[in-house]
Amino acid sequence: MFGRAPKKSDNTRYYEILGVSKEASQDELKRAYKKAAIKNHPDKGGDPEKFKELAQAYEVLSDPEKRQIYDEYGEDALKEGMGGGGAGHDPFDIFSELFGGGFGGGSRGRRQKRGEDLVHPLKVSLEDLYVGITKKLSLTRNVICSKCSGKGSKSGASMKCAGCQGSGMKVTIRHLGPSMIQQMQQPCNECKGTGEAIDPSDRCEECKGEKVVPEKKVLQVVVEKGMKNGQKITFPGEADEAPETITGDIVFVIQQREHPKFIRKGDDLFYEHTLTLTEALCGFQFALTHLDGRKLLIKSNPGEVVKPDSYKAINDEGMPVYQRPFMRGKLYLHFNVEFPDSLTDEQRRSLLAVLPQKVNNELTDMEIDECEETTLHDVNIEEEMRRRQAQARSQEAYDEDEEMHGPGGGQRVQCAQQ
Ligand SMILES: [Zn+2]
Ligand SMILES: [Zn+2]
Repeated sequence: MFGRAPKKSDNTRYYEILGVSKEASQDELKRAYKKAAIKNHPDKGGDPEKFKELAQAYEVLSDPEKRQIYDEYGEDALKEGMGGGGAGHDPFDIFSELFGGGFGGGSRGRRQKRGEDLVHPLKVSLEDLYVGITKKLSLTRNVICSKCSGKGSKSGASMKCAGCQGSGMKVTIRHLGPSMIQQMQQPCNECKGTGEAIDPSDRCEECKGEKVVPEKKVLQVVVEKGMKNGQKITFPGEADEAPETITGDIVFVIQQREHPKFIRKGDDLFYEHTLTLTEALCGFQFALTHLDGRKLLIKSNPGEVVKPDSYKAINDEGMPVYQRPFMRGKLYLHFNVEFPDSLTDEQRRSLLAVLPQKVNNELTDMEIDECEETTLHDVNIEEEMRRRQAQARSQEAYDEDEEMHGPGGGQRVQCAQQ
């Protein structure tokens, strides 16, 4: 139909830009575009080129006819079909169609403000992040009253707020002293800063003039395998609605609860295991229950001695990699070895009989005579280190004090990072 050989190579880019499969439904396309467009909106500091590309891709794929042409003949065919000019529409218009406005970027003359994002922490276990989970969360949010379409009145009319004469702001004056006043400007409390009022008899019965009504909503939050602590799951445009406001997002921030046995570092897992001295020397085996309930048999190689504070790793038993479900990190095993506190004479004799011979470093009586006697005390080295650090800190504070009061003292620029 375009008088050219079908070209199959260039008909996936738009799908890639939106991050959807070629089989994506209109709904999926819309969602993918919404999410990406919000993220890349220039008014929010996004890349304008990327924003344009997204709009272009969405414009084509959301139109079944254009999509078919694109699928069959690729991007170039579309450009010809659309009359040479290429993607025709303003990316901001495409965005507005879905969201009903921009982000209030002054340069584009759109003054609509953006509602606040609702940010919730989402507590999950390491098991949840390992296997993935869908959490149902119910919440109440404000939606535009459908009865009055967000006007707040039956007639759709509104009047100027008497409290602020329609400005939305109120100036209050406080007398601080005989000749001192403080002038403060605050949003008007009577109209909540909107500047308008609704006649009591004209109030919408549904929302009592509030323009919005609370609505219960259940959100299905999909925690995908391999997601990380601090990662955000965003529901674009699902926060509180308000008239003439672009609805903000609901954002869940993953907070991983600490696990008693496993520690996660990136895509790797660390597992600490304590061996007895006998196990460390003569071999061991134990069953390790993984985060999905599988039991892994962990055993030493025959004849192998495990040293204290040593590590071993099992490939592909770490965390699943986010959105690459077949890739996994490593599982590191950290071995401690528990030594006995003391040995009996008999144990010592038996050990001497089997262990490698002591190196011949026996001192002669004369050499001993030349040495001074010492006593070895038990110490808790961590505590000792803490005490040293505390001492060093108090010394530092003392030094700083000296400087503060030194010549030219008073103020000193301090580095924020120390
Ligand atoms: Zn007012
Ligand atoms: Zn209403």
